[in-house]
Amino acid sequence: MEPAIEVNRKNRKIPVAPEMADRCFTCGTCGGGCPATGLVPGWDARKAIRAIVFGLEQEVIDSKWPWVCTLCGRCQYQCPMGIQLMKTFRACRTARDRDKVPGPIHKGTMMNLERGNNLGIPRDDFLFLLADLGVEMENDEEQPTPGFYVPVDKEGANVIVTINSKEPFGEPDDMKFWWRIFYAAKEDWTVSSVNWEGVNWGLFSGDDESMKKQVARVIENARRLKCKTILYPE
Ligand code: SF4
Ligand code: SF4
Repeated sequence: MEPAIEVNRKNRKIPVAPEMADRCFTCGTCGGGCPATGLVPGWDARKAIRAIVFGLEQEVIDSKWPWVCTLCGRCQYQCPMGIQLMKTFRACRTARDRDKVPGPIHKGTMMNLERGNNLGIPRDDFLFLLADLGVEMENDEEQPTPGFYVPVDKEGANVIVTINSKEPFGEPDDMKFWWRIFYAAKEDWTVSSVNWEGVNWGLFSGDDESMKKQVARVIENARRLKCKTILYPE
């Protein structure tokens, strides 16, 4: 494959530089298989790439397009010219001022850095919930699991499980689906009592520094507890 050529926008402060985007020949393959096509009037993957090639990246950054794109990567995989669409649309998110990031993902990212999870669940509440749910599952009338408990901070476990904070916050029983699999498989697993969040909103908000900090925390937990495998919820 030929070396990547970046669109020349040296005099622009916006860090959107799609590799080989200037080779787009408007085939439309990207938009044709994209789950976000049709969600934002006037935009699709092909139009967004073409806009950037023509120097209209600020219009893309200011639009809803980069935020309805799910970053699934299908377009990038299918593009016959090898254009890095997903990377480009995420860069558009990065270029958005933080106070203009839509939805809760920027606030959740900041909350995660401050308290170790996106929704700010206090450590004691989290540990109480895990213990309570463990007892509930052990004594479940229809499917009891004798001897079950949630192993917290278990050193040397095979798997360290990260958690989507929406589950302890609003859908706690959903955690039991995983736990039942671990129980049936006799898996050796654990949950960290700190920085246990498994959903990295720094990734989705385009905030690279926060994303790296959150990844580093998960790895630090795995190293501290000497676990071999990290499990992410999604
Ligand atoms: S698939 Fe690639 S070449 Fe085709 S329109 Fe999309 S970006 Fe352009
Ligand atoms: S990465 Fe975004 S633009 Fe590409 S196919 Fe997925 S949703 Fe569509």
